[in-house]
Amino acid sequence: MPYLTPYDTGGPLQDLISFRRDLHQHPELGFAETRTSRVIRERLGASGLVVRALAGTGLIATLQGDKPGPTILVRAELDALPIQEISSVAYRSTSPGVMHACGHDAHCAIATLVARRLAEERESLRGTIKFAFQPSEEIAEGAERMIADGALENPRVDAAVALHVWQPMPVGIVGVSGGPIWAAVDELSFVVRGALGHGAMPNQGIDAIVAAAQIVTALQTVITRTRPPLDPAVLSIGSIQGGTAWNIIADRVEMHGTLRTFDPHVRDLLLGQIHRVARGVAESLGASCEVEDRYSAPAVVNDPELAALVRNSVIPIMGEDNVVPSQLSLVGDDFAHFIQQIPGCLFHVGSSNAAKGLDHGHHDSTFDIDESCLPIGAASLEAVIRGLLAQS
Ligand SMILES: [Zn+2]
Ligand SMILES: [Zn+2]
Repeated sequence: MPYLTPYDTGGPLQDLISFRRDLHQHPELGFAETRTSRVIRERLGASGLVVRALAGTGLIATLQGDKPGPTILVRAELDALPIQEISSVAYRSTSPGVMHACGHDAHCAIATLVARRLAEERESLRGTIKFAFQPSEEIAEGAERMIADGALENPRVDAAVALHVWQPMPVGIVGVSGGPIWAAVDELSFVVRGALGHGAMPNQGIDAIVAAAQIVTALQTVITRTRPPLDPAVLSIGSIQGGTAWNIIADRVEMHGTLRTFDPHVRDLLLGQIHRVARGVAESLGASCEVEDRYSAPAVVNDPELAALVRNSVIPIMGEDNVVPSQLSLVGDDFAHFIQQIPGCLFHVGSSNAAKGLDHGHHDSTFDIDESCLPIGAASLEAVIRGLLAQS
């Protein structure tokens, strides 16, 4: 980063690192982020922001400037993942089987510190900033709950912004693009039913495991033979359970997976084919298959004008060469629910450092960021907020 920001040295830097590490050590799953929510509230308490609880463990911390201006929402996620952290660092998770493996600890530390710094200049601030600490992003339920509980009202929000630390990009780089950047997420469930039988007499049962195996294989053709070749889409089956013993023909298999798409028409097309293939393959083997799909989140589609504003706001901090277009990815984020209703932009803050071995991916048990991305994220977010508030 070519330019020093107020977050690069001394107290602010120490605060960012120590708060991120504290959150990292105490990860909590979606809608159970009670400690996370409490410690953020405590840190914001003395700063004069008005903090309100909503969506269970969620918080809206409102900073109202003394001068009139737009209202913007800044989103940070509270939740961690059901992963056992594999790490020798002193700040590794103290909760067995739970881990901040997506970087939401960094997002909360950054948003809290930026909120506190901006609160110091309330008299000269134009407009209102609503810092939305969102529960349960990882299962894509928190954003909708926050919106249902009024996060976008009183006062009405004009624009929303979020950052995500991003391991595919090295630290020192910020990514931002207008248009679709992340995919729509559907959660798929399949229940395959057959009939019990003796393992030595499979002809007398209907083997749900064989049917499930053929369904998984046949589903691969949905991507290779139904998807229009130039439209990105992913279909993954991530869990499969069935059967009770080695010598019994299984009568039930349950499978869960996900479909990721950008184009709503492609999504409809592929969902229709997934249902047809699963049911048809099961029936051809004498079994049956119930298919359910849950629309978790739409695609993250950045407003082009806001994306340009984010880019222009970050360039003075990062230098033009270090602000690049976002890489398209089929991951999802329920921030999409906010920006379906109002213009918004999610931008990426590069967070990996291969030389330090900090290049493991999101949702990996060895995930960790290069903490140099914290001051970059904070300075970038502050600059973006100032840019948004300067709009009339
Ligand atoms: Zn994640
Ligand atoms: Zn995330």
